[in-house]
Amino acid sequence: MLKIITYPNPILEQVAQDVTFPLDNVTKTLIKNMWATVKELGVGLAAPQVGISKRICLIHLANVEKGKSAKDLLLINPIIIFNSKIEAQMIEGCLSFPDEFWKIWRPANIEIEYQDERGNLKKLRASKWLSRVIQHETDHLEGKIFIKKGGEKIEEKDLQNKDEIID
Ligand SMILES: [Zn+2]
Repeated sequence: MLKIITYPNPILEQVAQDVTFPLDNVTKTLIKNMWATVKELGVGLAAPQVGISKRICLIHLANVEKGKSAKDLLLINPIIIFNSKIEAQMIEGCLSFPDEFWKIWRPANIEIEYQDERGNLKKLRASKWLSRVIQHETDHLEGKIFIKKGGEKIEEKDLQNKDEIID
């Protein structure tokens, strides 16, 4: 498992670099180790959170959708190309901010463009949890951290349903 970088490590506020194709072995190994880490720890992980400032994030959908069989998602060089005007408020956590939880408004639905492991360009529409996790993770690639999104901090003791937290 990779070591998670925590705030205030400056890497978390740097804009990450584009990934070029074909992937080199260092990047392939990074992705493999990131998978092992996210499956252990949470629903989403961005490379800057393990100290590598590259535009890679991955989402462990089994953890997002509570046991529903769904594919895991690797997003390389993701760009959000559509944000819905309708926003939703959800509670977010983050592996890089242990024990911090914020209620944050974000667009409810998004569409992204990204590259897969081979460099193929893909599009994906997302709503609900998946939309939320993708927005949180792509923010990491822009050096944006969730405590600065103008949300409302929630004390851990006030969390009613821990299953609703996204981290
Ligand atoms: Zn995070």
